[in-house]
Amino acid sequence: MIPVSYAQTSFWLETCGEDLTPRKPLSGDITVDVAILGGGYSGLWTAYYLLQAEPGLEVAILEAEVCGYGASGRNGGWCSPRYPINPDVVERRYDVETARLTVTAMKEAVAEVGRVCAEEGIDAQFRNVGILSLARGEAQMASVRGSYAVYDRLGLLDGGGLLDADALRSRVRIEGAVGAFHSPTGAAVHPAKLARGLARAVEAKGAQIYEQSPVTALSVDGQPGLATTGGTVRARRAVVAAAEAYLPKVKGFGRKVLPMSSSIVLTKPLSKDQWAQIGWAGGEGLGSQAFTVDYLTKTSDGRILYGSRGAPYLYGSATDGGEAAMSRTHTAMREELRRWFPVLGDDDFSHAWSGFLGVSRDWEPTVSFDPLRKIASLHGYTGRGVSTTNLAARVLAEKILGRPSDLQRLPLARHSAPAWEPEPFRYLGVRYVQDAFKRMDAARDAGRPAPIDANLAKQLSAP
Ligand SMILES: Cc1cc2nc3c(=O)[nH]c(=O)nc-3n(C[C@H](O)[C@H](O)[C@H](O)COP(=O)(O)OP(=O)(O)OC[C@H]3O[C@@H](n4cnc5c(N)ncnc54)[C@H](O)[C@@H]3O)c2cc1C
Repeated sequence: MIPVSYAQTSFWLETCGEDLTPRKPLSGDITVDVAILGGGYSGLWTAYYLLQAEPGLEVAILEAEVCGYGASGRNGGWCSPRYPINPDVVERRYDVETARLTVTAMKEAVAEVGRVCAEEGIDAQFRNVGILSLARGEAQMASVRGSYAVYDRLGLLDGGGLLDADALRSRVRIEGAVGAFHSPTGAAVHPAKLARGLARAVEAKGAQIYEQSPVTALSVDGQPGLATTGGTVRARRAVVAAAEAYLPKVKGFGRKVLPMSSSIVLTKPLSKDQWAQIGWAGGEGLGSQAFTVDYLTKTSDGRILYGSRGAPYLYGSATDGGEAAMSRTHTAMREELRRWFPVLGDDDFSHAWSGFLGVSRDWEPTVSFDPLRKIASLHGYTGRGVSTTNLAARVLAEKILGRPSDLQRLPLARHSAPAWEPEPFRYLGVRYVQDAFKRMDAARDAGRPAPIDANLAKQLSAP
């Protein structure tokens, strides 16, 4: 029987071109070289690069639901060169050369996703569309100019530049938009087609994928492996934890990332007349400077996807519950998108969903492998994982196989993010920052001075 709920998880899973009948679960005990927990981009890319480097390697992936069930099948489709922390923050924490290396590696990761899609015949609708990081209102323009100045100073503009209100309007007509920083690099993808296509690609290379196989422990009889209620996988060379927002439920990873709800609303395919009023022929990724984050994607079938932060953080890093808050968030987001594009009506919306992304304490991703314990993990993409997972997986495959390249100089290869605070401090701090960011956006939109605690909220949130 087809589990309807998987198709209902997001528009992307609904339209991924598969019926989502789960692959068979693990039953019995097996031994492989590398056992991977999680069938999202992180786990799948890791398997891909391991098998590309060593075609005979035995790799098994255990996925609790179906591949692409998590953030990888629900995201906004931005395959962006933007690292989870901005280049000036990389420069401040490391040095200018590391900032340049990171931006360059991220651009290459975007290209690499496109290259693999073409090579493996994955029809993920990969389109190089660029990014418009825009100001809605004069108050946001300082932030736009600031980003441009950083890329300019580091020599990383690559043909990008500042657009004034008229130049922006010639690309896309957004109510209240006064300018933008245009970057030519950045792609849009169909997220679930990418995840599901990758799963097929790694199977073709010899990986075994078991779905509906939730892992209960990262060891088997005290040795590296994955345990499920239906069987076990012993691992000769490495066990990989690739569960991102679900990682806190895995023993030993409780405070590595914080699950942050993220929500999306989607329109129906718009009419020719509506598109004539909006413009946006280039389909660039759009985002404003809102503290509460917003991003817009034009889908390949002519819809507008609008994403933003979702329901408030749930106590104890829970990833279930909060449905009422999500529904309220979706309503507010539909209203907000109609403020961007007043040509949209109530009836123009077709889908809404939410998911969880993993936020690390300092917003930096971590890729680690302990060769003694044979435990590896890659996590903490902080909402910028469509491209970053590809880079992280290449770094991890090198570590597991003991074949380092220059990629090991990147921050994510040598950094370990600090743990989140224990509860109830985590809950109190995160809820406070989430509320402060909303108040900061409201004040800026209304032309009022920033709230008195704005700097405190920014400092508490890390980057
Ligand atoms: C709504 C939303 C919008 C986003 N938009 C963007 C965007 O536009 N651009 C961008 O770059 N990033 C975006 N992101 C972030 C991006 O999607 C993620 O960073 C990326 O998909 C992470 O991939 P992953 O494989 O690490 O995690 P996931 O895709 O979450 O995969 C983890 C997998 O592990 C499985 N799992 C969990 N526990 C277990 C267990 N015990 N046993 C077995 N399996 C388990 C889960 O079922 C899941 O399939 C967004 C995220 C969300 C939620």
